[in-house]
Amino acid sequence: MKVPTASSLGPLNNRSVVVIIGGGPAGTTCAIALKKLAQARGITPRIVLYEGKIFEKKSYYNQCLGVLSPPLDKIMADDLGLPFPYHLIQRQIDGYVIHTDMSELLLAGEHQPSYACRRVEFDDYLFQQVKELGIETYQARVTEIEISSERVMVFSEVNNIRADVVVGAFGLDDGLARIFEWRTPYRQPHFLYSVVTKIHPGEEAMKKFGNYIHAFLLSAAKGVEFGAITPKGNHLSLNIAGKKIEAESMENFLDLPQVRKTLPSTALALIPELYYFKGKFPTSPGRGIIGDRYVMIGDAAGLNRPFKGKGINSALITGINAARVMVEHGISRKAFTKYLEYCQELRADIPYGIIFRELVLLGLKLKLLDKIIASAKHNPRLKQAFFDIVSGQNTYRNIWKQTKSFRLLYQLGINLLHIK
Ligand SMILES: Cc1cc2nc3c(=O)[nH]c(=O)nc-3n(C[C@H](O)[C@H](O)[C@H](O)COP(=O)(O)OP(=O)(O)OC[C@H]3O[C@@H](n4cnc5c(N)ncnc54)[C@H](O)[C@@H]3O)c2cc1C
Repeated sequence: MKVPTASSLGPLNNRSVVVIIGGGPAGTTCAIALKKLAQARGITPRIVLYEGKIFEKKSYYNQCLGVLSPPLDKIMADDLGLPFPYHLIQRQIDGYVIHTDMSELLLAGEHQPSYACRRVEFDDYLFQQVKELGIETYQARVTEIEISSERVMVFSEVNNIRADVVVGAFGLDDGLARIFEWRTPYRQPHFLYSVVTKIHPGEEAMKKFGNYIHAFLLSAAKGVEFGAITPKGNHLSLNIAGKKIEAESMENFLDLPQVRKTLPSTALALIPELYYFKGKFPTSPGRGIIGDRYVMIGDAAGLNRPFKGKGINSALITGINAARVMVEHGISRKAFTKYLEYCQELRADIPYGIIFRELVLLGLKLKLLDKIIASAKHNPRLKQAFFDIVSGQNTYRNIWKQTKSFRLLYQLGINLLHIK
């Protein structure tokens, strides 16, 4: 007997079945946007969301630092009709301090603040919104998919569903990436590893530490592209990122004088007891992220800034754009080219981000960053550029234009000539 799904590749209709795999910011946002856009069109497709974790338990450690950057509040209000969860905010972030081998640069001033929250609570907030909208959710891992020209079969730990389209919102989960890579032309984004830990130095020390994120670009931190200390409610989160970093890289990082000087003295005694967590950041887009009956969103798509990711913002934007395309245009590869169009601002910024990352790596290797930081102290444009890079509050393309790329390169060149 023929399976009763709307096997057309056109826009969603009352008989369509959409399965979203992953209930992080990308998956939940996509589900919410789909539900609301469909309602506005007077259609009721079946929307199913699978998530392996139970966010309500709040017992999961998420490696994400939970810094919510502008314009997340605006995206949530305008595109999802959701209030920004101010009740979850543990701390307002007022600025940044960049540390290089010999210099420091304080970046603060006129800008919209970012907010630090506990990431699992943010995930739970979005997940509860999905449930309140009456969207079908399963707390289970998807274990296999099959995609044919007629339909998608989604197998999970608790059931299986015949769907018309599947949305990959599983982040950088290796298991599901391998399955999609086997079944479709999809290829996971390139990524950097991160190691994260947290320290509770005490209430007094947290007050003194202040509301600044400290970013470290240190040549002595072997294999570490960057590190950061982020103040949260009652603790400091420390993270490092690099292509091949391990727990030992974090131990070495914690030993560096620039890091020890920044940490409160009460934190130093706690270092031997720390727990480490490992995670990943995408650094380039995945390949084959759209196809007939599937689309990748969030980290699975890798349409993030390659340096200072603001991954939560990209997750929301890609989730909303995928929902728009399914409702307005359809679920074929051709229809999803509209998704790439809608995500053009993110995509156009990626090559610029890659150049910035390479410049910083070159600066680290040639020990030039101290000189550039010193120049930035007296050059408001360069200082603003650094602020925009670390805060993620401007596109790399704009930063590039505003600093007049040739000037930055010129400065780099001059510094190179002065190396003894
Ligand atoms: C160290 C670190 C710090 C970061 N800090 C920040 C920050 O401060 N601010 C910021 O904006 N971004 C930050 N990011 C990036 C941010 O965490 C990601 O970009 C964001 O979480 C991507 O959202 P997502 O929904 O695509 O994926 P995820 O958040 O990874 O969600 C994917 C979900 O899919 C579920 N899943 C996976 N496989 C399956 C399966 N088979 N079946 C069912 N469910 C499945 C997972 O359980 C998970 O909940 C950080 C990343 C790292 C590594």
